[in-house]
Amino acid sequence: MGGFGFTPEQETLRQEVRRFAQKELAPGALERSKMPPEDLHRALHDIDKKIVELGWTKINVPEKYGGYPLGHVEIGIIHEEVHKVDPTVEAVGGMEATSALLQTLPQDVQDEWFPALISRDRRHSFGFTESAAGSDAAGIVTKAVRDGDDYIINGEKTPLPGATIADAVSISTKTDPSAGFKGISLFWIPTNLPGVTIRPLPWMGNAGLYPSFVTFDDVRVPARFREGPEGMGFYTVMGTLDWLRIIVALTCLARAQASLADAMEWAKERKTFGRAIASYQGVSFQIAEHHTMIEAARMLCYRTLWLKDEGQPHTVESSMAKWFSVEVSVQCVKDMLVLIGHPGYSTEHMISTRLRDVLGYQLGDGPPQIQKMIIARLLIGKAVVG
Ligand SMILES: Cc1cc2nc3c(=O)[nH]c(=O)nc-3n(C[C@H](O)[C@H](O)[C@H](O)COP(=O)(O)OP(=O)(O)OC[C@H]3O[C@@H](n4cnc5c(N)ncnc54)[C@H](O)[C@@H]3O)c2cc1C
Repeated sequence: MGGFGFTPEQETLRQEVRRFAQKELAPGALERSKMPPEDLHRALHDIDKKIVELGWTKINVPEKYGGYPLGHVEIGIIHEEVHKVDPTVEAVGGMEATSALLQTLPQDVQDEWFPALISRDRRHSFGFTESAAGSDAAGIVTKAVRDGDDYIINGEKTPLPGATIADAVSISTKTDPSAGFKGISLFWIPTNLPGVTIRPLPWMGNAGLYPSFVTFDDVRVPARFREGPEGMGFYTVMGTLDWLRIIVALTCLARAQASLADAMEWAKERKTFGRAIASYQGVSFQIAEHHTMIEAARMLCYRTLWLKDEGQPHTVESSMAKWFSVEVSVQCVKDMLVLIGHPGYSTEHMISTRLRDVLGYQLGDGPPQIQKMIIARLLIGKAVVG
């Protein structure tokens, strides 16, 4: 991004991703949107391989594994265009976060995992939420207790998106329960270790997130699988969420834009009382208003990604973009479903899937109240805002 627009290269990337999405993702997207996660994973096999061929799994991965750098504005563009067409596909996803976590581990572990993750022959996911601790990420109770060269891990994570298809998960644990958020450490845990149990969660949407409930029962993990120094995990989690929230926001806005486009087409064709419904101000003003809100939210998102690429602080912007964009998306998809009428309420229309998805993202990566708390704390001061 330069000035207030995208660069010619970014526009070219958008066109390329759009063509890929129309050619490879559009066929079958509606059928996939209705599949349970276990079927969906199989159905996406060929698309996953095409994403690997495109090189998206090598974005911001170390060069020695074939990786290459790409800006976060560009990563946002890829997600936005893919999720307009197929909300179930993991385009680039959390690969950069996975890469950062894996690079904290010894070289032989990296050599084993990087190639398999890049080819998507293996998968990794990460989760911090527990039954008793969501918004209060420092309130987790999963414990890691040092035992010689290992740690023994006990606890659970739910929802841990992606775990049912993962070969390794990264989780937050308490290594020093008396130290609050400074007692949190992260671990890379291969899911085939004894004591790891994973079961799917019955979610109302977002099948492509593979929601899972994971328990850790005396799981013995080598100390060399600890991600970074003891006690630094909370900072890593917050730093990762700072930009992943924007990707979540853009994927919701993608669903909103697709819903608006569907509704506009419909409104031109659908007649009531002898006229196309688009001719009524009650309809056309709704479209104008939602388009305006979406564009405002997109600007917040892309400016935040640009700030990240410029190496500037962006925590407040990230939280503003996340709660505002998801709120705008929920209202837009809901209104456009009503505008389309009863066909929109059918599972034969993608808009019903989109509505279930965006509702979930009000929670995913932190609910609106928590985003507002982060904004207020940084604006007014942590000493005043609780
Ligand atoms: C689609 C989706 C994707 C997700 N992805 C992930 C993931 O990748 N990794 C992961 O670890 N977790 C994930 N989660 C879990 C998500 O992070 C939590 O749902 C979220 O942090 C809120 O935690 P909670 O659900 O336990 O709600 P709670 O923390 O119990 O809060 C319940 C509600 O209380 C209100 N509230 C809480 N605290 C305050 C406060 N201080 N002030 C005002 N109101 C407050 C809010 O309305 C909040 O929604 C996902 C969830 C969903 C639905």
